[in-house]
Amino acid sequence: MTGAMQDQVAIITGSSRGIGKAAALALAAEGASVVVNYARSSAAADEVVAEITQAGGSAIALQADVSQEDQVDALVKATKDKFGRIDVLVNNAGITRDTLLLRMKPADWQAVIDLNLTGVFLCTRAVAKIMLKQRSGRIINISSVAGLMGNPGQANYSAAKAGVIGFTKTVAKEMAGRSVTVNAVAPGFIETDMTNELPNTEEILKYIPLGRYGQVSEVAGLIRFLAADPAAAYITGQVMNVDGGMVM
Ligand code: NAD
Repeated sequence: MTGAMQDQVAIITGSSRGIGKAAALALAAEGASVVVNYARSSAAADEVVAEITQAGGSAIALQADVSQEDQVDALVKATKDKFGRIDVLVNNAGITRDTLLLRMKPADWQAVIDLNLTGVFLCTRAVAKIMLKQRSGRIINISSVAGLMGNPGQANYSAAKAGVIGFTKTVAKEMAGRSVTVNAVAPGFIETDMTNELPNTEEILKYIPLGRYGQVSEVAGLIRFLAADPAAAYITGQVMNVDGGMVM
């Protein structure tokens, strides 16, 4: 593989399917060595690795529940031991536990905060040391339009995703002096397993000016730009929506 990310290393959390998988394929196509992180079963992650290597790219699958500090530290150490550096982190892993506020159990709240917000903190902190020392790096946090505009049934999710935006801006300021950029991508409704569970598609489409769900490749395209393009070196602390015009 030759491309803008030749000799670079990227970790993409939760990349055995959905947006994370599309991002893994896109960065591998740019020549990056990609760590396909998965939480539990390795089968889907192994398939992503096979797809990348068959196309001439470089990838390994590494297990880690990124809401757990010890597992995150082990993931980052294993990546550094294998490839010697870390250039890109895509904080993509995320879950939903949707229900209206009055029915939301503390466990529903906590599980979403633990992965979608604390997981982003843990992974970013773990790679930050390496990137600051390298004096280069790009961190891309996957937020959501729910974090910008709220969404009934997603108090936990929108709080975590809004938290990711504040986190992104602060860490962007802290790391800018060493040329490490930190940005957030806020997808709208993208066709994945996460949105396949939604019952009210017709209702949702009324709020999307472009009149359709997005494709994972359309989110991965922006991730690839932020991770790989030389021009993205001057973009930091930003939130970019990929949402068919839902938020403007
Ligand atoms: P998905 O459910 O298809 O993929 C999520 C991935 O995260 C899976 O691979 C899953 O195994 C992994 N994961 C779950 N728990 C984990 C853990 N503890 N540790 C490591 N990995 C774990 O979802 P998706 O739609 O591809 O979403 C990816 C990201 O995009 C998420 O952060 C999500 O909140 C965000 N997002 C998605 C949409 C959408 O419409 N699909 C919209 C806005 C934001």
